[in-house]
Amino acid sequence: MALRYDNRVAIVTGAGGGLGRTYALELAKRGCKVVVNDLGGDRHGSAGSTSMADKVVGEIKAAGGQAVANYNSVEEGEKIVKTAIDAFGRVDIVINNAGILRDTSFINMKEVDWDLIFKVHVKGAYSVTKAAWPYMKDQKYGRVVTTSSNAAVYGNFGQVNYSAAKHALIGFSKSLAIEGAKYNILSNTVIPTAGSRLTQTFMIDALKPEYVTPLVLYMVHENFPETGGLFEAGAQWYGHLQYYRGEGKVLENATVETIHDNWKAVSSMDKPKHVASISEQSAMLMEMLGELDAKK
Ligand code: NAD
Repeated sequence: MALRYDNRVAIVTGAGGGLGRTYALELAKRGCKVVVNDLGGDRHGSAGSTSMADKVVGEIKAAGGQAVANYNSVEEGEKIVKTAIDAFGRVDIVINNAGILRDTSFINMKEVDWDLIFKVHVKGAYSVTKAAWPYMKDQKYGRVVTTSSNAAVYGNFGQVNYSAAKHALIGFSKSLAIEGAKYNILSNTVIPTAGSRLTQTFMIDALKPEYVTPLVLYMVHENFPETGGLFEAGAQWYGHLQYYRGEGKVLENATVETIHDNWKAVSSMDKPKHVASISEQSAMLMEMLGELDAKK
């Protein structure tokens, strides 16, 4: 059975090239009406032109699909959502994809390198999602996918700004999932690996952006069964990423020496456990407190 997006309206940010372009093309091919947002700057966030978004809209129309271009920066989410409402009357899907890099070692990082990365990635995702949210809430339907990075999870040399912003987006997406649950708004995060303009300096052609597309398309489909999740795609591999915590140890009235003496047990990951929610985490803490109480 083909998965379709008929009567759905999607906003794909940064869809003038790279990964975003492939999402926009595939969504349109499957019946979705698409707002192709791209301010057309270079990969460091400078300059701007309308040609990148126009080109993708041209490709979609030539293939018989429906799309409109939007040239605003993602920091201006209301204008991007207005484009969707004016052209198609609703918004069902937001793919927070636009991004830039300002790689430099921490010692050489300028405030502008930090600020620009947070503006485009974090403020951008906030701004577009915030403007779309009331429409999704009213129609009791929404699919939000936000783009993180392996640099967020593992860290990376020269990317203190980028990895911090991309990790912020994991928290953003998880909390949105909790707030969106009762309105049938699902929010998930993708970690892509693809050869594109952002990675051209060190990635190879085998990492086609098109290999990421099927996962992201499924994540914004009405049948997608998850929310608050973190999923990876790259080099034709697809998977699920979760946080695990070690068993740890209760140490009553601990001192720094007690922590030192018990470090093996405190830091052990021999019995990893996935904690699914903040309420599960609180319940585990309460259980521990109960055990301590019982000892008294
Ligand atoms: P890309 O440079 O090809 O595409 C990013 C697009 O975003 C560009 O077309 C650019 O013009 C647009 N853009 C930049 N700033 C914008 C703004 N303020 N408003 C609107 N559009 C803007 O890069 P890509 O590799 O396709 O990256 C897409 C996303 O995936 C980014 O968020 C990136 O951080 C993330 N990502 C990519 C990889 C990878 O391996 N390619 C890995 C991890 C994360």
